[in-house]
Amino acid sequence: MTYTGRCNCGAVTVTIDAEPIGTRQCWCRQCQKIAAGGATHNAMFPTAAVTITGERAETSYVAASGNTLTHEFCPSCGSHVLGRSSARPQFRTIRFGMLDEGHGLRPQVAIWTDEAPEWAVIDPAMERWPQQPPPPPTS
Ligand SMILES: [Zn+2]
Ligand SMILES: [Zn+2]
Repeated sequence: MTYTGRCNCGAVTVTIDAEPIGTRQCWCRQCQKIAAGGATHNAMFPTAAVTITGERAETSYVAASGNTLTHEFCPSCGSHVLGRSSARPQFRTIRFGMLDEGHGLRPQVAIWTDEAPEWAVIDPAMERWPQQPPPPPTS
């Protein structure tokens, strides 16, 4: 299936010609900053399947793992587009919010649940990791 999407103002668009390798709900503190206090919802795709148009701004930081994480966002409306890790350049982590309605994706795994606020409601059916899980298979 092909996934399409756009930021809030439409300056940045995304087209993805692949199924995600994995989908995650992330409660880490950095994600709570991005997501206005909640979790982010993300789908990892092979970088080669992701086409993005429009200018992005980006910001980077060194995560607890020692890897450099870079977030790309629309400089006009601030919508988050994707994240990428220096350790896994073969993947792009697309924010669910970038995808058009009807994408049908759901988070499969909740991660960094140790940092979730006490009011957070996390689907008990979801696999959980208190911190960072091992990376998904690369095949
Ligand atoms: Zn925008
Ligand atoms: Zn996070």
